[in-house]
Amino acid sequence: MSAGFSASVDAMYERAADLMDMGPGLREKIRVCNATYTVRFGVRLRGAIHTFTGYRSVHSEHMEPVKGGIRYSLAVNQDEVEALASLMTFKCALVEAPFGGSKGGLCIDPREYDEHELEQITRRFAYELVKRDLINPAQNVPAPDMGTGEREMAWMVDQYQRMHTTDINGRACVTGKPLNAGGIQGRVEATGRGVQYALQEFFRHPEDIAKANLSGTLDGKRIILQGLGNVGFHAALFLSEEDGAKITAVIERDGVVRSEKGIDVAALREHVVRTGGVTGFPGAGHSEDGAAALEDDCDILIPAALEGVIHKENAARVKAPLIIEAANGPVTAEANDILLEKGCVIIPDLYANAGGVTVSYFEWVKNLSHIRFGRMQRRAEEARHQLLVDELERLSANPDVKWTISKNFKDKYLRGAGELELVRSGLDDTMRDAYGAMRAVWHAREEVPDLRTAGFIVAIERIAASYRAKGL
Ligand code: GLU
Repeated sequence: MSAGFSASVDAMYERAADLMDMGPGLREKIRVCNATYTVRFGVRLRGAIHTFTGYRSVHSEHMEPVKGGIRYSLAVNQDEVEALASLMTFKCALVEAPFGGSKGGLCIDPREYDEHELEQITRRFAYELVKRDLINPAQNVPAPDMGTGEREMAWMVDQYQRMHTTDINGRACVTGKPLNAGGIQGRVEATGRGVQYALQEFFRHPEDIAKANLSGTLDGKRIILQGLGNVGFHAALFLSEEDGAKITAVIERDGVVRSEKGIDVAALREHVVRTGGVTGFPGAGHSEDGAAALEDDCDILIPAALEGVIHKENAARVKAPLIIEAANGPVTAEANDILLEKGCVIIPDLYANAGGVTVSYFEWVKNLSHIRFGRMQRRAEEARHQLLVDELERLSANPDVKWTISKNFKDKYLRGAGELELVRSGLDDTMRDAYGAMRAVWHAREEVPDLRTAGFIVAIERIAASYRAKGL
């Protein structure tokens, strides 16, 4: 479904640009993808030479470095990489991560190779990108995406450092690294956590909840999830374990499992990792027609897999009143209009899945500052809190005083914030602010039909301001 992905993102962009006061030149400049590098390289595997095709696309350099993941999938192609790079530009602008947009991909099914082979392939791909400054802490900073994770990022950063042995900021050339290779706590689950924070924020606004024809809180909401990868798994886990939502269906490559009682997400993930699919998961009904489950009755639909899964053929049958796009581009421009017409509210990708790049930004800052967040202040903070607790305890020792301080308060209050708490708080704050900016435009202007258009307007305005200030 990725043919036409760029056209779909462009259509969404144009809709927002139509509502803005921007000259045609700047409008075109912001929309187009600046450059896409294609590389074909050979790797000798199992006694034969295999040729791989990879891409790194740079959509906008209004801020540098440019940022965006590298995807490993057989469906990778130039159109897809360019569409994803442009989404990165708008995503970063919306959440105020100071980056331009980029994306990369390698045409490969990673499941066909063992770890050693993947390392050879990844290092060779990274070598090609480093050589052209398409991996570089000041110019282009990749991260994980579909089919890649911490392990691939560790190989890439190591490859860069071998080629730039004196670059003291070398670790900042890639984000999403393992902790012991310069990563940051909370990055693995960041995109899923961001989806949770986005929904929590949505449910703080009664007017918005009503627009989706819903009521109440996340507690008890019935959710259909498509894709139990890193993003979908963490989003569903947090929403079910912490917010009381019920995951009533999970769609994967080999079909769908459904349970009105709610699916145990951690157990299902373990099953999928072990067996390669959802088939045979105990206690839930299975059907092979996964796509049909997108049309099931639910309160919230979370597409967290591929682009283009809700398109003009199935959009009219989708019943979810609220869709949150954990994947990039899961709803095509045509489907978007059909859903809008039905009154469905869509929390758009450029906002909904921005948690990953937000925490990547924190990781990049951590690498450049060469110090773990919280390292300098945690004990000082705890000592100050201890002063207050001591004083309260001294006061409560007075027989005339009728209160004591609880152990729960003491335990919670005394603890200074470490890296994980700081990352979570920074992510939560980012998601609240970005929603506020998007929502303000949605509510203030009648001609703005949805959150997506509002999000694009906020992002485009910021990018245009940066071009106006600095020149092209
Ligand atoms: N691949 C993720 C995305 O699509 C993360 C990008 C990043 O952290 O740079 O947003």
